[in-house]
Amino acid sequence: MSSIKQNIEQVITQIAAAAEKCGRNADSVQLLAVSKTKPIAAIDDAIAAGHRAFGENYVQEGVEKVQHFRATPYAEALDWHFIGPIQSNKTRPIAEHFDWVHSIDRAKIARRLSDQRPSECRPLNVLLQVNTSGEASKSGLTFDELPSVAADIATMPNVVLRGLMSIPEKAHDYDSQLAAFQSLSDAMAALQSDHPQLDTLSMGMSGDMDAAIAAGSTIVRIGTAIFGARDYSNKA
Ligand SMILES: *Cc1c(COP(=O)(O)O)cnc(C)c1O
Repeated sequence: MSSIKQNIEQVITQIAAAAEKCGRNADSVQLLAVSKTKPIAAIDDAIAAGHRAFGENYVQEGVEKVQHFRATPYAEALDWHFIGPIQSNKTRPIAEHFDWVHSIDRAKIARRLSDQRPSECRPLNVLLQVNTSGEASKSGLTFDELPSVAADIATMPNVVLRGLMSIPEKAHDYDSQLAAFQSLSDAMAALQSDHPQLDTLSMGMSGDMDAAIAAGSTIVRIGTAIFGARDYSNKA
């Protein structure tokens, strides 16, 4: 058995245990395998293990992978999520290749994605990235900005707002992790009165998925625990 297959099974077991501990159904938490910087062969192993949803951070690398798998029997079965920072001049390839975008941090980006989404594609599912830690250096919207950006996106024909995402400041103790995730969960509950379709909370990574699941995560984004440590030496 490949180590990637073993790792995926381990992560699925951990998700199920975390869900059970807080009385949630394991099926309510989707595993997104974050394959950034990893080769096609690693994604092949994950697909062979039955996995179908992948997250990428870099536009060119992500597009190359989507294009590679479009020419395989898995093309229709795979779901591609863009989770990295977005420059406004790079929106077109994202609109043309991905199914989800987790990292919307301003209405302008959503507008461009909607305008550039090919008409033969389903609307793009988008999440608003929220800066739950309030650090000036981190990207993401403030809680106060959410209602107006969500209202703007509701008018755009080719994107559907599905929920919120965050990458909280690293915290090693469970209670601080839980507090950050709970603030995102509360923000989505508040938005749901005007946007009842919101159903997705993208939160939790390899180091903090248990707390994220306890706070209501519906997508955990897991890279290292599946594919091992990343090598950024060619990503200067
Ligand atoms: C890299 C990355 C992940 C995966 O992180 P791991 O700690 O390797 O699980 C998740 N979310 C985002 C936005 C990332 O950039």
